[in-house]
Amino acid sequence: MTEKQIVVLGAGYAGLAAATRAGKRGRVTLVAPESRILHRIRQHETSAGLPVRRPAVAEVLRGRGVRHVRARATELDLAGRKVLLDNGDALAYDTLVYALGSRTAWHDVPGAAEHAHPVERAAEIAERLRTAQRPGTVAVVGGGATGIELAAELAEAHPRWTVRIVAAGQVGGWFSARGHDHVHKVLRGLGVAVHEHAAVTAVDTGGLTTAAGRIDADLVVWAASMEPQPLAAEAGLAVTPDGRAVVDDHLRSVSHPEVYVIGDAAEVTVPGTGTLRMGCATALPQGQYLGKVLTGRTDEPFAFRYVVQCLSLGRRDGLLQFIHGDDSMRPAVLTGRAGRLAKAAILRSVVMSLR
Ligand SMILES: Cc1cc2nc3c(=O)[nH]c(=O)nc-3n(C[C@H](O)[C@H](O)[C@H](O)COP(=O)(O)OP(=O)(O)OC[C@H]3O[C@@H](n4cnc5c(N)ncnc54)[C@H](O)[C@@H]3O)c2cc1C
Repeated sequence: MTEKQIVVLGAGYAGLAAATRAGKRGRVTLVAPESRILHRIRQHETSAGLPVRRPAVAEVLRGRGVRHVRARATELDLAGRKVLLDNGDALAYDTLVYALGSRTAWHDVPGAAEHAHPVERAAEIAERLRTAQRPGTVAVVGGGATGIELAAELAEAHPRWTVRIVAAGQVGGWFSARGHDHVHKVLRGLGVAVHEHAAVTAVDTGGLTTAAGRIDADLVVWAASMEPQPLAAEAGLAVTPDGRAVVDDHLRSVSHPEVYVIGDAAEVTVPGTGTLRMGCATALPQGQYLGKVLTGRTDEPFAFRYVVQCLSLGRRDGLLQFIHGDDSMRPAVLTGRAGRLAKAAILRSVVMSLR
């Protein structure tokens, strides 16, 4: 009997967690271009020029039956059950795990893709700041968790630069009152200028045009929102209008049951919890769950409840926001050094949970 071929696309939190577990019992091929994990949840640190330990993919996969093909998938042939790669190879599969994650969404804002730096080009942002002839102004677009973490980190690492955070609505507006107040207190303390209700309508070489007026900037970093990678939609997998794969309660594509989709690439709705947001917090448990499904250790539907939201606010401060299982806020928070230590513990546990 020939062994079933499992191909996992993407070595992010979802793909790696699935591959290492599936590889305990069978042969798995993992396709991703990087030799070290991307570790996106620390990219704000990289942007600020801080050293970030990113384990080698080989280290994460050690001792598991997983072959890592360092390549990019360029096309899915769903009818022929093949993945085409940028090295010219084609990989046949019986089961495909699609975990290609997400990328910066520009929302058709004129000039954004040309003049702003997406947060995933973290090393480039760090280099721009390091090699600038003199300190200037950096505008971080996005008042969500990524924008806040970035603005705080950049302001702390580059105190001679002016850092502005620019949001279409409120900055950190979804946190509890105590969480929200803490975020703003820390940003103020770091000298970050907050521009709220300032939806960006254009980006140019000198800065931003916003609904609240002009903001000049020498460097614009875009952390406004993410969208799924386009391969699934291009291949004809069933997707939502914003391109996330539609999956059943076992994370299987509703149009192609031999394809599982996990992480930012999938729109997952859990009864009692709701539709999950894109995040490491949701991608990792999906990968862990799928690993169990693929090795026959569960046939239960995917279950998930939120526990906390956690932000780093520079190297000395953080916010741990307690939440209900459906992601709504509780009043309680941990702040300051305690919040910072909680975030550090979560970061460590993420790496350990990959295998
Ligand atoms: C600065 C920052 C901070 C964040 N902080 C948090 C946080 O505190 N908590 C939280 O929950 N979330 C956070 N996030 C969001 C989180 O990082 C993402 O939601 C998470 O990485 C999604 O995981 P994933 O496995 O689905 O995809 P990803 O981590 O995006 O991994 C995708 C994988 O697919 C690979 N890939 C992409 N295209 C191809 C291709 N064509 N062929 C082959 N491989 C390909 C990539 O190289 C990568 O290996 C943060 C994001 C950023 C940018």
